[in-house]
Amino acid sequence: MPENSANWPEPFVAPAWDPCPALPPVRITNVKAICTAPDGIRLVVVKIETNEPEIYGLGCATFTQRPLTVVTAVEEYLKPFLIGRDPDDIEDIYQTSFVSSYWRSGPVLNNALSGVDMALWDIKGKRAGMPVYQLLGGKVRKGAWLYAHASGSDVKEVEESVRHYMEQGDRYVRAQMAVPGMSTYGAKAPASAGKSAGTLDVRQQPWEPTAYTATVPKLFDHLRNTVGWEVELLHDIHERVPPIQAINLAKELEQYKLFFLEDPFSPEDIDYFPLMRQQTSTPIAMGELFVNQAEYVPLIRDRLIDFIRVHISDIAGISMARKMAAFCEFFGVRTAWHGPGDVSPVGHAANLHLDLNCYNFGIQEGHEFKQNTREVFPGTPEIRDGMMWCNEKPGLGVDIDEELAAKFPFPDHALNGAWPQVRRLDGTVIKP
Ligand code: MG
Repeated sequence: MPENSANWPEPFVAPAWDPCPALPPVRITNVKAICTAPDGIRLVVVKIETNEPEIYGLGCATFTQRPLTVVTAVEEYLKPFLIGRDPDDIEDIYQTSFVSSYWRSGPVLNNALSGVDMALWDIKGKRAGMPVYQLLGGKVRKGAWLYAHASGSDVKEVEESVRHYMEQGDRYVRAQMAVPGMSTYGAKAPASAGKSAGTLDVRQQPWEPTAYTATVPKLFDHLRNTVGWEVELLHDIHERVPPIQAINLAKELEQYKLFFLEDPFSPEDIDYFPLMRQQTSTPIAMGELFVNQAEYVPLIRDRLIDFIRVHISDIAGISMARKMAAFCEFFGVRTAWHGPGDVSPVGHAANLHLDLNCYNFGIQEGHEFKQNTREVFPGTPEIRDGMMWCNEKPGLGVDIDEELAAKFPFPDHALNGAWPQVRRLDGTVIKP
């Protein structure tokens, strides 16, 4: 010891570290799947309750064609696995739940995981007093541009439909047109189609790929010559045509400068994407049916698509989607999350919070929920001026009126809840 040690300063001692000094311990006390169909579409929403009555979360687990399988996965398997856990541990709960079934992936298990994952993000936002987009890193835009759905039985009707949306402020419009005598995806049947005329997607009629691929370029030629070039136009092939016909169609449409052409191939045919890229610069959106990262990672890494179009509950929720979006950013791929009526308002809110935060946002598909759904789900994101807007409440910002939800039970599972069959003229069933 030096002689003058008594004059040395006191050694530094770090104060005891408390990771969350403001937050008392919270535990998961219940996990349940709520089934409701306020607009006639079967929706499944997971609610996670805690020992703090006001701290609960909601997550979308809607697999509308097989909803009861998801309910079983949530209530029989995830609920006993999660009771007693700390809801703050979102990542560890996702990872442990993911491997707890040993066999994993697929729409049933992913939707169950999504219900839990979104509910935990909702809880964390409420505990922090912040909207979820703040937890992700904050806003980079004020709202999310939406695309509208125009359709008609002929070019004139589709033109009128596109004009209608342009007049109400939409800048992005998807255009789908019926093929006479055929059961076409996303378009009204012609008035001559008989008693089902005027309904969407008359599926009892046959469908032929060549009749369709001959029709679509005529539609876009008409639209560019009438509504002009300022509106962004989109189109969905919906995986219905043989891959080489999809490539041919994408080449023909190149001159009309689509914002994107969606799902040219089915997930089983994704090895055609390199051939597509060598043939045309039409922007491609893909992924509505993806459930496994082995399907989408190569398409993003090799820059073979322009928009990732997954249904967030089908890839297991916000945790997976935020990683996917960050991965896409490095490869110039933009987000275009699937957002039809069979995503619950809670799922639409999850889409929106990611849209607000992700720099590489591309476009959002929106759905105008009817009054019944908006009453069952207070806080459903608002749509105006061609955009979707966040209500700025903590968490995802959407609640559920469980008593009202119970007044809208699932409709009969007609055709076993299935997407109705689409067949060619010779009777061969095709992907829908
Ligand atoms: Mg689609």
